[in-house]
Amino acid sequence: MKFSKKGLSKEALFQELEERRANDLNWRSGRLFGYVFDPGEEAMAFGKKVYSMFLTENALDFSVYPSLLQFETELVAIAAEHLNGDEEVVGNFSSGGTESIILAVKTARDYFRAHKPEISKPEMILPVTGHAAFHKAAHYLDVKMVPVPVDPKTFRANAESVRKAITSNTILLVGSAPSYAHGVVDPIKELGELALKHNLLLHVDACMGGFILPYFKRLGEPIPDFDFSVPGVTSISMDLHKYAYTPKGASVVLYRDKNLRRYQIFACSRWTGYTIINNAVQSTRAAGPMAAAWAVLNFIGDEGYLEIARQKLEATRKITEGIRKHKDLRMMTKPDMCLVAFTSDTISIFHLIDEMNRIGWYIQPALNFGDSKEHIHLSINFSNVERIDEFLTDLDKCVEKVKTIKFGKLAHMVKEEFSNMDLSQLSDETFSQLLGMAGIQESKLPEEMAEINEILNVLPAEFREHLLIEFINNLFHFKEN
Ligand SMILES: *Cc1c(COP(=O)(O)O)cnc(C)c1O
Repeated sequence: MKFSKKGLSKEALFQELEERRANDLNWRSGRLFGYVFDPGEEAMAFGKKVYSMFLTENALDFSVYPSLLQFETELVAIAAEHLNGDEEVVGNFSSGGTESIILAVKTARDYFRAHKPEISKPEMILPVTGHAAFHKAAHYLDVKMVPVPVDPKTFRANAESVRKAITSNTILLVGSAPSYAHGVVDPIKELGELALKHNLLLHVDACMGGFILPYFKRLGEPIPDFDFSVPGVTSISMDLHKYAYTPKGASVVLYRDKNLRRYQIFACSRWTGYTIINNAVQSTRAAGPMAAAWAVLNFIGDEGYLEIARQKLEATRKITEGIRKHKDLRMMTKPDMCLVAFTSDTISIFHLIDEMNRIGWYIQPALNFGDSKEHIHLSINFSNVERIDEFLTDLDKCVEKVKTIKFGKLAHMVKEEFSNMDLSQLSDETFSQLLGMAGIQESKLPEEMAEINEILNVLPAEFREHLLIEFINNLFHFKEN
């Protein structure tokens, strides 16, 4: 459908909208372990209402919206206190973890440009378990990415590997609290010592964990220190649209003090239009996420979040126990949070995922990388709490079902075919051919993912990336049937 000449009726459009979303992931089912963070019916409806109440306001210019300045500074103050910051800690609201991370990397880059102009090629050291958003930030900001290995058993960052990677060009160290894939908190204390010793900045990526880990700690979990209580930590990112359950488009980035945050702010008055002063990457900024985040946090309240955390912790224990007991499944490691990674040495987890999908569960695949084998990732949620027994029963049934599947044949063939090819010499045709072998039609979403994932799983990372870019470049192209 293209642009209507005459306006259509609301009824017709609502009907069309409902039809279009009929095949989307059903977030109300309690059967998905990611993408949607659902605080329960009432808080969800409340957040929606506040969001639309501030639908039209624009955080581009806080001088005409004092309410938005107040939301933003209060949200940052709440976040700073939550993460043991003192009154010196400042920060800003952003649209998500990625934006917070881009801002933190830009701040580090510009801080060093000012303080150590002799560094012409700044470097950031990232344990391989660090989020892809750092790679994106490095790519956008022309900072060199220096990946370092992690402990192959616990998947925690290894301070010694980080230390070895420090050069005279290093500006920024990164630790996760926790890492997305394995849900483990890096040794932030040791990284902080390194940062102090070498005069470096240290960013803690607490996008996933920042909000909820303090509750797990209060519930008696042995959570390692990761926040501003740790000397050497200079900035932290924490998403609100994940485990703080606020509507999407909500994150904060915090800095130890204003001397550092100064380098985040962008001002421009060298053009003929309005003067720009931006805290974030975006200029025109939706106010809905900000107002809704403030309202939902205060609606659920500290005790409410503690109770949610208690239930999630229990659900996580139950799931990990079920997986540990299963003879065909194994936990990748012991997580510090409600993020669970498990794999199998006997069956294809990619077929297991498709099978679970067929009966209405959504679970996420992760491809093998370095010492981390391909696995299934679950971000356990409030809405999953009631469904854990059912999940484990269905998981067991699906394991039995996929046991008979002979897997990996096509992937093996592809590996043979492409193993001695040089990526730089690959033509578009080769990629079309590869997509074809994987059963991918160029401009359609595939129905079954197992074989595609198996193929991606055997290819080197840069190969995967190239392939996926080709695919997306075709997919996002409107064609009349
Ligand atoms: C989700 C996440 C991010 C990126 O956040 P977005 O909101 O998806 O942009 C970064 N780091 C970690 C650990 C995350 O879980």
